[in-house]
Amino acid sequence: MRRRLTFTVTFSLTWKRSIIGLMINNQQSTENRENDLVSITSNSSTFGLTSGSQKARVITEGFVAGYGFCPACGASLKQAPANSKALDFLCRACDEGFELKSKSSKIGSKIVNGAHDSLMNRVMGLHNPNLYLMQYNMREMTVQNLLVIPRYFFTPNLIEKRKALSATARRAGWVGCNILVGQVPQLGRIHYIKDEIEIKPEVVLKEWQATTFLQNSANIEGRGWLLETLNCIEKIQKDNFTLDEIYAFKPYLQQAHPNNNNIEAKLRQQLQFLRDKDVIEFLRPGHYRKKAK
Ligand SMILES: [Zn+2]
Repeated sequence: MRRRLTFTVTFSLTWKRSIIGLMINNQQSTENRENDLVSITSNSSTFGLTSGSQKARVITEGFVAGYGFCPACGASLKQAPANSKALDFLCRACDEGFELKSKSSKIGSKIVNGAHDSLMNRVMGLHNPNLYLMQYNMREMTVQNLLVIPRYFFTPNLIEKRKALSATARRAGWVGCNILVGQVPQLGRIHYIKDEIEIKPEVVLKEWQATTFLQNSANIEGRGWLLETLNCIEKIQKDNFTLDEIYAFKPYLQQAHPNNNNIEAKLRQQLQFLRDKDVIEFLRPGHYRKKAK
């Protein structure tokens, strides 16, 4: 079923009524409805919007607040207080926070983000929110893709520094960044809507649960190795693979880790860990099979 951006309100209504209708129709309980209307309507920036991107932001955020749910526990979401930095939604039941990046074109391999240093600090301290990515069609008011990437999939090598703004720019010297979402393994791309097809909530929750072992992985460097190993496994386009096929990625990994003189041992260690976490299984020495996704 095609999921429309609004549930019942059509775009021909006035903008203000559309927003209110969207909020009302998206709410899941009377109790929450009141709170949300207060928080949304008290945010004066919601009304009198003129630019297309502002409108798209309000519509897409309203959609996720109503349609989305916490992939960690299944509870509904609420919008974060206005002016929360890099945070758009909070789970009503657990501590998970979410940021939404939406665009009308294909999600692609990188997503433009804000200041480089602040994202880097958040990622290093594991304070970054989970990231929702949405692709929408504003003309047809439909959502093509909606997925969430768990926060612990973000490592420093996913953050690409952009060139500093020139001396003549208003914010001269400011350095922004891109998030290289194309480098997130499939395991970390949990779809709610994929190519206009809705995924069942129980599948979303199950896919999330299959990633939580990473959350507890010792440190950011350890997670980096695991994610890189997962990427290597995914690049092998078949379910069964051998240790030699994994070793074939050694030159690439050596380049990324010039100080590591024992890449093969590191890879074997990751494979063992992924076996213990049920992502792959050992068939016989040097032979493996993919289990997840
Ligand atoms: Zn939750």
